[in-house]
Amino acid sequence: MTSAGKLLDVQGLTVGYGRVVALRDISLCVGQGEVVAILGANGAGKTTLLNAISGVLPTQSGVVRYLGRPITGMKSWHTSRIGLSHVPEGREVFPGMTVEVNLKIVDVNGGGPKVTVDDVLTLFPRLKERFHQLAGGLSGGEQQMLAIGRGLMACPKLVLFDEPSLGLSPMLSKAVLSVIGGLKERGISALLVEQNMRAALRIADRGYVLRVGRITAEGSAKELAESPDIQRAYLGF
Ligand code: ATP
Repeated sequence: MTSAGKLLDVQGLTVGYGRVVALRDISLCVGQGEVVAILGANGAGKTTLLNAISGVLPTQSGVVRYLGRPITGMKSWHTSRIGLSHVPEGREVFPGMTVEVNLKIVDVNGGGPKVTVDDVLTLFPRLKERFHQLAGGLSGGEQQMLAIGRGLMACPKLVLFDEPSLGLSPMLSKAVLSVIGGLKERGISALLVEQNMRAALRIADRGYVLRVGRITAEGSAKELAESPDIQRAYLGF
């Protein structure tokens, strides 16, 4: 991929917690209009990676470029303003506010395709039924939809998704992943961390395998899904 086609370009990223190094020398990219999956077992460093890219965590070395511009060390409130949305693990909706307020409170325009409240309600009709209810009273799946909807309301060009189907029923998980897979048709790219690796590879264009803080394999979603090593290690064949 030419550097011009790269929306996100991470080179040599190393991140730690005190003296514990959680990621070593990570390089990866996301192109315009791509869904890229990060696969890895528990503790591999997936959440750390997304947090370092979006500025939630500081980095020790390496460079994160977004649209060709270095953003390493930029704080998360700032990265969201330039079109890099992060939908974290654990949903983090405002429980004491209604669905409507959770969506309308977003006061960020990342410069990506315009996303309105109506667009979110069309993507997730369940939220329409719950529009005037408090977010804290929603089911886990509904809260996840709301968290994704809120991430999209910031009009991002790229969304980092951390385990969007965690704890959801198979049906809801399919619905959520299908929305994520369809974002590229709206011109929104995605970097997806997902414990349901088989489902992630179904919607992704490419992927990287993270093992104990290092990238050990990368390729098209098809190559990864058909790799005997990956099937044995992660896909339960
Ligand atoms: P999971 O799928 O279980 O969420 P993960 O792939 O997202 O795992 P991380 O949560 O990024 O992995 O953790 C990577 C490594 O960093 C692990 O060894 C973890 O124990 C360590 N780690 C994560 N958070 C902290 C922290 N706040 N302090 C110290 N070590 C941490």
